[in-house]
Amino acid sequence: MVTTPSLDTQATRVTVRGDRLLADITRLAAIGGRLDGGVDRVAGSAADLAARDWLGARIAEAGCVTWRDPTGNIFGRAPGGRDPWLLAGSHTDTVPGGGRLDGAYGVLAALETLRALHESGHPAARCLEIVSFWDEEGAAPTSTGGLTGSTAFCASDHVKRVAAFLEPHIEQGPRMEAAGFDLAVVDGIVGIDRHTVVVTGETNHAGTTPTDRRADAGRAAARILIAVRDVAAEADPSMVANVGCVEVLPGAPNVVPGEARLVVEFRAATRAALDLAAARLAARAEEAAREERCTAAVTPLSSKPESRFDPALRDLLGRTCADLGVPTTSMVSFAGHDAGVLSRHVPTAMLFVPSTGGVSHAPAEHTPDRQLVLGCQALLDTVVAWYQTRGERQ
Ligand SMILES: [Zn+2]
Repeated sequence: MVTTPSLDTQATRVTVRGDRLLADITRLAAIGGRLDGGVDRVAGSAADLAARDWLGARIAEAGCVTWRDPTGNIFGRAPGGRDPWLLAGSHTDTVPGGGRLDGAYGVLAALETLRALHESGHPAARCLEIVSFWDEEGAAPTSTGGLTGSTAFCASDHVKRVAAFLEPHIEQGPRMEAAGFDLAVVDGIVGIDRHTVVVTGETNHAGTTPTDRRADAGRAAARILIAVRDVAAEADPSMVANVGCVEVLPGAPNVVPGEARLVVEFRAATRAALDLAAARLAARAEEAAREERCTAAVTPLSSKPESRFDPALRDLLGRTCADLGVPTTSMVSFAGHDAGVLSRHVPTAMLFVPSTGGVSHAPAEHTPDRQLVLGCQALLDTVVAWYQTRGERQ
């Protein structure tokens, strides 16, 4: 049984410097900054490389040590530190025309945490390592789909010396703002399953074929498309579903479609919900197709596993948020993050701050200053609490 000392056993509580964090956010946003307030910092671009140089200079300026691994991940530590590390950070690359906070916020909150702890001489500074991962977004034409730096990191020896990973991030959705929460402890990241639905009917003359004799694959596919939301809601009320690809063949105005194809995507927190949705989709597709004198085949196209974050680390984050006395919730992330990759190798947790209007991957991406600073303080407090917990164990 491990007991966690409360934060007030510290001689002095270390507070982050909010003005410095906010100034850093403004300065980093200027690298690759656009006139419309957005940021172009696609991985590997001149702006992305300049942002990495800038980050390295900020770490060095704080009296800390910085270096890069062969992939291009950039790290920082206080001098005299030793492993096992508590790693904290995110990414500084953006999508084209992205916002100033996606990724950047987590890196700069980690930087301010390291700086504040190091300046105050707090021993927790010596267990903290900060990171900006290479190519999280996968937005470059040559990218293999993103999460490149974190994936390479997890295949390296370095990860063996990391005991935990914390990623602060903006929510990128409207849920927290709508419900009035300042902070959220993230339970995990949704799994994403895609299915191809192929409906087979009978190609025929669109004028001479009586309606009751048609085997219209397009109409059957439309009914399946409409059913997809119900399928998702029945499987798990928090599941989201999308039909983003629709094809009707042969695709002529005067031919009854003989074939139709849909790509259905489901996102949910649990494997059980995704499997249930797949089974229900198959049943509903079969039923709709039969009623339209067609047949339907549903086949899995791809499956990205869900991530569950570490319960002890989530607890620790939850307790520091509670000590801050601000409205805090827990939620699942519907977008992918480096933390999802790390969670398969080390205990991992994420902290969200709200996104105004739920806007992300766009120039209007915004979070109120107060919540940006709160999230940074929650990170620092969690690093200190983690350090104290480990001290008790050793
Ligand atoms: Zn991100």
